[in-house]
Amino acid sequence: MKFNPAKAIHDLKQFGEFGDVNPSITDSSTYTFLRGKTMEDTFHGQMEGCFLYSRHWNPSNKYLADALAAMENTESAWITASGMAAITCALLQICKSGDHIITSVTTYGGTYAFLKNWLPKYNIEVSFVDITNLEQVRNAVKPNTKVIYTESVTNPLLQVSNMPELAAIAHSNGAKLMVDNTFTPMIFSPAMLGADLVVYSMTKFINGKNDCVAGAICGSAEFINQLSNVNDGTAMLLGPVLDPLRSSSILKNLNTLHIRMKQHSRNAQYLADNFEKLGLKIIYPGLQKHPQFMLHKSMMNEEFGFGGMLAIDFGTMENAYVVMQKMQEAGVGYLAVSLGYFRTLFSCSGHSTSSEVPVEVQKEMGLSEGLVRFSVGLDNDIENTLEIIKRCL
Ligand code: PLP
Repeated sequence: MKFNPAKAIHDLKQFGEFGDVNPSITDSSTYTFLRGKTMEDTFHGQMEGCFLYSRHWNPSNKYLADALAAMENTESAWITASGMAAITCALLQICKSGDHIITSVTTYGGTYAFLKNWLPKYNIEVSFVDITNLEQVRNAVKPNTKVIYTESVTNPLLQVSNMPELAAIAHSNGAKLMVDNTFTPMIFSPAMLGADLVVYSMTKFINGKNDCVAGAICGSAEFINQLSNVNDGTAMLLGPVLDPLRSSSILKNLNTLHIRMKQHSRNAQYLADNFEKLGLKIIYPGLQKHPQFMLHKSMMNEEFGFGGMLAIDFGTMENAYVVMQKMQEAGVGYLAVSLGYFRTLFSCSGHSTSSEVPVEVQKEMGLSEGLVRFSVGLDNDIENTLEIIKRCL
């Protein structure tokens, strides 16, 4: 039977200590112990169910982590204060000086900058590849390769990663596959497709309200325990803990994610089909002409569609700016970075969220200066939205 991430969350039946339908929010940074020995054992990770200090674990973050682990079908999960914290803590937990990472060259700009500019300072080598070219990935593997890193659907070019094949390449070389599933929660279950670690910017679709920044790492219990180890865990020692008030509000929003993802996908598919008919240079994984349409179909949890992200190449930056400004004035949505919001957001990737990528690399990977990335909202009347967009072109 196919895995159903929405059912997995539903079946968890989380409730609070007084039967509260929403678990109580932790309002404490520290916790009392009846005995000194219990505190000592908790410090050394030998006590189940005890909380020590809120940077380490706190009940609110644990509820959310459990729900995410259920959604991803992983043994465990960890909550962080941003998507970047999830990515950086997970990578730094695995890699030490002298190790090697293979990454898709097309990734979120902040991730690209971390891999390109930050890790080499600590003698961690990074190879950038076209992640859709498996031969290139295989050829990049070295004896010290520890991680193959990719985004399930890459930002902003919307290339689809062949997760089962990438997992096979990683595993046959003793490396891990780490997948950023920020664009496609519920649509893909990367751990079911072979990924060892699934990371999220929960700032985006998972929360869906643009009212906070947050992240998550889903993986084996062993790995999550390593992250929180008091002696060498990156999450514990670098300290990017999410405030419990926020994790409790994200948990409530997570429970409507399945409905939102379907509507984001339905609206994006409708716009993409019509943009194609209008002859626009559109990229959307749900269009049959998309190079990885069949691959996407073979890996997806069908009912959630092809996602809310699409991109149109308007040729030049000037054209892109004119269309975006008109769309904002006409009420299509907002000229803003980020994604996964209930309103449509659009930005010119090469000059915003991918501006960390040098222009010559942007050209090499096929990122046009006029590419506008859309995060399609939850509009009830998408037919009307299309008519407004048409007037802005
Ligand atoms: N991963 C992807 C695919 C993103 O688009 C972003 C941000 O745009 C991030 C990670 C970073 O997440 P955060 O802004 O929550 O740190």
